[in-house]
This record gives sequence, structure tokens and C-alpha cells, in this order.
Amino acid sequence: MLLGCIADDFTGATDLANNLTRGGMRTVQTVGVPRQPLREDVDAVVVALKSRTIPAADAVAQSLDALKWLQLHDFKQIYFKYCSTFDSTPAGNIGPVTEALMQALGCDFTIACPAFPEAGRTVFKGHLFVGDVLLSDSGMRDHPLTPMRDANLVRVLQAQMKGKVGLIDFADVARGPRAIRARIAALKAEGVKAAIADAISNDDLMKLGRAVSDLRLVTAGSGVAIGLPQNFATPDAAATALPPANGSRAIVSGSCSVATNAQVAHFIANGGAARALDPLQLAAGAAEVERALAWARPQLAAGPVLFYSTAAPAAVQAAQAQLGVAQAGKLIEDALAQIARGLVESGVGQLVVAGGETSGAVVQALGIEALRIGPQIDPGVPWTMSVGGKPIALALKSGNFGAEDFFTKAFQVLP
Ligand code: ADP
Repeated sequence: MLLGCIADDFTGATDLANNLTRGGMRTVQTVGVPRQPLREDVDAVVVALKSRTIPAADAVAQSLDALKWLQLHDFKQIYFKYCSTFDSTPAGNIGPVTEALMQALGCDFTIACPAFPEAGRTVFKGHLFVGDVLLSDSGMRDHPLTPMRDANLVRVLQAQMKGKVGLIDFADVARGPRAIRARIAALKAEGVKAAIADAISNDDLMKLGRAVSDLRLVTAGSGVAIGLPQNFATPDAAATALPPANGSRAIVSGSCSVATNAQVAHFIANGGAARALDPLQLAAGAAEVERALAWARPQLAAGPVLFYSTAAPAAVQAAQAQLGVAQAGKLIEDALAQIARGLVESGVGQLVVAGGETSGAVVQALGIEALRIGPQIDPGVPWTMSVGGKPIALALKSGNFGAEDFFTKAFQVLP
């Protein structure tokens, strides 16, 4: 096995796995740290944790657990994946996890690079841009858990690390792998342990990828993964191939993002069979899940059915005011997860799920431990196939991803 990855959240793990698969590496994503070694014949594995915003000591412990499991498989290189907006606080978790992994791997230098130009994330002179603005001027400024108010990543990472942080400047990246390697040697001689790497294009990521081929540990967003497959064996053109999907089709949507609202509206406007779930009705304790499944069963053979709690902000706020934010969210997540399980028991074998938290709840309810990554539907969202047990094709879409016709297009992409 070539590349062993640790991702600090679930949909971020899928994003990374998708980039590796597109680069020709056969990739499996696991849900947490598996109990058994992996038996699949693959090139890369992404262990998906939920460690982005938990206390730093817990994030370190979980990441080291994941590393221990990865080390059972003798990977050539280890990749620690975080968000392309470098989501973290001065307490961590990017710095502490990086240093713990370096120590466990006996490695004296690594890079840190959240750049993903295709998604509008670029790093120049150590400063992270989101689209046209500095990170500190972007919406991330007011993130509830990890507000990012400094775009200078050398400074941001230094606040989280004991070891010295440096910069691999754009001028060296642009000159290519040899110049990058020379810069790394100079930084190491100065006692630098980790360096922010500039990158503003896919070409930069390819050069950077080449230059870090012999680093034991790479830390990055999902973008740097574009430049790594070239270092390993010949890319496999069939890396995205999945076994043919079986069973009927369904969609479960718990995301209330702008994009998902548009996707639900588009599906319904085009005559799709859809049933709304209302948190207030769920709270009243009516047997809504059973009724919903009874409604769906006779229609499954005819085409995809959609269950959605997706609603406009005013409706969401009204439900939250009455039930509390956490309770409203939990009611919906539990109901959608039970519906997903009921659908699979009724013969659904191809399931689209919209929403990051919703996806986590569904995957857990289905008892899925690992996913083989398949063809991309829209940027950042591939089809996947569950590994072990009865195979189910799953597309797990984080809220704002996907074009308006995602719910219909998805099934056309699946063999
Ligand atoms: P996204 O990826 O768009 O953030 P998530 O699934 O991660 O989507 O989060 C959406 C959250 O909103 C979930 O906890 C879900 O249960 C909750 N939710 C979904 N629909 C409603 C609704 N109609 N009212 C209140 N909360 C809702």
C-alpha cells in the first residue's frame, strides 16, 4: 500500500479520497479506525476521523490510533488531511497532531499546505486566500468554532507548534521540484520542522507533489493529493471503477444549505417522488418513520424516491425556536438514519445522502465501516461502494456541494 491518510472530518476525507482516485489510485475510506486490517487490494486508504474541533489531546490520541492502524499495512507515505481553510484555533488541532505524528514516525520535517486552487483556495507568501479575499476577510472570520482571523499561515501554525515553522515561497515552488528540495534542505539546516508551502495553481501542486516524494509525512488540505499519485506506480485508469450497483434508488436529504434547497426543488419540479419530514411532527412522536417507509415501498421500483427535511432558513429557525437547535437536529438525523436503514432493508442499493452530519448518521445506522471510492458525480462528491457485508452504493454529499440536478445526475453516473 502506498499512501495512508488521516483526515480530521468525514466529508473532507471523501474529498481527499476523490482526488486520489481521480489521480489513478484505488482508494478506500474508512469510517473511524477499523478494528481489523484491511483486506481490500488498494493503493491508498483514508481513515476518516471527527477530530477537527475536539480538544487537542483527544485529536492527538485519535490520530495516533489511526496511525497505528495504518502502520499495520506498511504505507510508503502518511498524509494528514485538514480543511482547505486551515480550520483550527491557537490550541490546535493542526499543530499538535502534526507534531505527534512526526514524533511517532521519527520524521524531522514536513510541509503544511491547504491550497486547493480548483476550489478557490490558494496560498501566496504564506497567506491563504479564499476566492479573491484573504482568509481573515472571508466568511471563515466568523466561524462558530474555528474563527480564522489571521491569513498568515506561518504565524497561525507557529502558534500551535513547539517546533519552528518556515515558508517554501512561491518563487521556489514555481522553479520546480529541485528548487523546492533545495529550499527544504536550507529550512532543515535552520532547524525548521514544518514549512507552509505556497501554491496557486494545479501546476504548483504537481511540482510540490514531486518534491515531497521522500517525506515520510505530508500535511495538507485535499489539493496536494493531486500531485502525489505521479510519485507512485503507474496510475490505474480503472481506479474509479466500482462493481455494478444493484437494488432500487433513493435520496435522503438533511442538509438545509442553499445548494441542497435548490437540488430538492429541482428534483420535485421534475416530477420526482418526494416526501418532506417535519421536525415538529417528529417531536409529536407520531410513527412518521414507519408511515414514510410505507409510502415509499410501492414506489421504489419506479425510480428514486426522496426524503427531505431540507427547508428554508425561516422554517429551520421556527423549528429550532420550538425544539432547540440540538434537539431539532437530532430528531431529523435519527429519523433520516432510520429511514435509510428501512430503505436498504426494502431493497434500496443505491443511496444519495445530502448533508455532512446527516451522512455520518446514515453511515453509522447502516453499520458501514469502509467505502471504496468510485466515479465523481460533481467536484468533491464521488459514488462509493460499501466494503464488507452487502454492497450498497452511496453518494455522501456535504451540504453546499453539487449542481442543481445532482439528485438525478447522480444515478446516471453510476454503472
Ligand atoms: P450540511 O452539510 O448542509 O451542513 P448537515 O447534515 O451537516 O448538512 O447539517 C444539517 C443539520 O440540520 C442536521 O443536524 C439536521 O438534522 C438539521 N436539520 C435538517 N433539517 C432541519 C429542519 N427542517 N429543521 C431543523 N434542523 C434541521
